[in-house]
Amino acid sequence: MPQIKILPPDLRNKIAAGEVIERPASVVKELIENSIDAGSSDIRIDVLYGGKRLIRVADDGIGMDREDALLCFESHATSKLAAEEDLFNIKTMGFRGEALPSIASVSKIKLVTGVKASRFGIAVEIAGGKIKETKDSPSAGTSIEVRDLFFNIPARKKFLKSTGTELFHIIDTVTKEALSHWEIGFRLNSDDRETMNVPLSSGPRERIMQIYGEEFLNGLMEARAETTGLKMISYVTKGDNFRGMRSHQFIFINRRPIKDQSISHAVYHAFEGILPRDRHPIFFLFIDIDPHRVDFNVHPAKREVRFEDKESVCRFVNKSVGETVKRERTEYAKQFAETPAPDYSRPFPDSSAPFSLPLNSPGSVVSENLELAYKASLPFIYLGDTFIAVSGKGGLTLIDHHAAHERVLYEKFLRGINLNSHVLLFPKQAKLSHKEYSVILENAQALRDFGIEAEDFGHETVIVRSLPDVLKDADIRGVLSDAASCMLEGVSPDKSFKESLAARIACHSSVRGKDILNQEEVSALIADLAQTEHPDQCPHGRPTRIFFSVDDLKKMFKRK
Ligand code: ADP
Ligand code: MG
Repeated sequence: MPQIKILPPDLRNKIAAGEVIERPASVVKELIENSIDAGSSDIRIDVLYGGKRLIRVADDGIGMDREDALLCFESHATSKLAAEEDLFNIKTMGFRGEALPSIASVSKIKLVTGVKASRFGIAVEIAGGKIKETKDSPSAGTSIEVRDLFFNIPARKKFLKSTGTELFHIIDTVTKEALSHWEIGFRLNSDDRETMNVPLSSGPRERIMQIYGEEFLNGLMEARAETTGLKMISYVTKGDNFRGMRSHQFIFINRRPIKDQSISHAVYHAFEGILPRDRHPIFFLFIDIDPHRVDFNVHPAKREVRFEDKESVCRFVNKSVGETVKRERTEYAKQFAETPAPDYSRPFPDSSAPFSLPLNSPGSVVSENLELAYKASLPFIYLGDTFIAVSGKGGLTLIDHHAAHERVLYEKFLRGINLNSHVLLFPKQAKLSHKEYSVILENAQALRDFGIEAEDFGHETVIVRSLPDVLKDADIRGVLSDAASCMLEGVSPDKSFKESLAARIACHSSVRGKDILNQEEVSALIADLAQTEHPDQCPHGRPTRIFFSVDDLKKMFKRK
């Protein structure tokens, strides 16, 4: 007896709904995308109880005539695809013809629609996929009301979360659609309260401002890039505007919100060396790609895409964001480069001198003396034994000398220049654990790149014959053991092996917290730091220097 049966259409739609309609926010997404495809300029979304009771999406788009209004609930009914070749040249948000039949099979729907030119419109009511009623109803544009989602699939209904959680997902969905469709106005009302209202805008910049506010936008940098078949406008973290969560990260491909690990990774990579541990950049990437070079038909809810050449897309993103980050860092570094060099020709007066000037001296004399004292006798001061305060042009710079030194050495190690590696007159020995010993010998070449010549001395002992200058006083066992644990742990996803190793070793060779630098060393450190590629953060992401402009100080003293 045959075992195989063709499933009835109703069950087929329910199965399709399982893939596309996960929760109320999925319905909101599908309906909004239909409104977008219909050329709307105003989309209004109303929800009750986080969309569990009601979702209504109304638009001022092209609408449907009577025939289409009845056909749109059939499976695989679409106006957006005609032939197979269209599948690789998709310019609309929808194309599968699955959303409406899926939604209709698991809810109660009321559709009211009409084309603009016609006086006639139609209202259609459907429950569980079956048409219950049709009526004439003059209207222009389309309104689709979805009630009691999953009323006929209790098992799915059980999985719905609290009203607050479902609403959160709906807001997230509307936000994403609104971000990439700035020429459309969006309004979202939840339980009759206005939750979001963004009128149509001129572009992504204005849209980000409408949604998140001006201050948020000021914390971002804009970058534009273009190459054959690929174009991007992006807004990414400026300065140290990093977040503790990944919540402000958006990728849009041809205006579709998608998730893509490799593209995210390309952005993280652009912040390498300045991104503190456990912090995340903000990014909004609006990528436009030739539709022939991307396949949108990968994920039922279209959350993922497949690129013809993913690597080149990632490279493009990394380059554009990386250049923007670098440009901003260079601008920032300029103000430090202008730090006046300490004037050694002047004797150092008693540091209390400027402040003991008689208060009744003529104004000009006082200010002149104070100014001299500020520049010449106080090129820097130590605050505690780690922080150095330096007067720079137009403000005050605080430097963590340990972190600064780490940054300088890290970059020296990475580039392998100015390491001044010397053969030791008395080679040093280090006894290691068995694991450390074998991994160090396996990776001897990597250490050699850093000017460390280490050889097998038998019995789990390594002999070190040359060392770079900066490591000559370091605890060599500590260095090797730390290097070994880095080799054993493997590389963190946003760093290369060489970078991880350089960061570990730079930490050992840096000035320890207790060492107080003299005038010459401080000047050299400031100059060396200014030369580095990322002067503001140590390789572990801690700040190396913090700058207060006179303006900042004025604000702090409430003079502004
Ligand atoms: P798809 O969007 O993949 O074509 P849907 O099931 O979402 O499939 O919609 C089916 C069809 O119904 C669409 O192709 C479109 O012609 C029509 N339609 C749906 N929503 C609207 C709307 N808001 N305005 C005008 N036409 C619509
Ligand atoms: Mg659709």
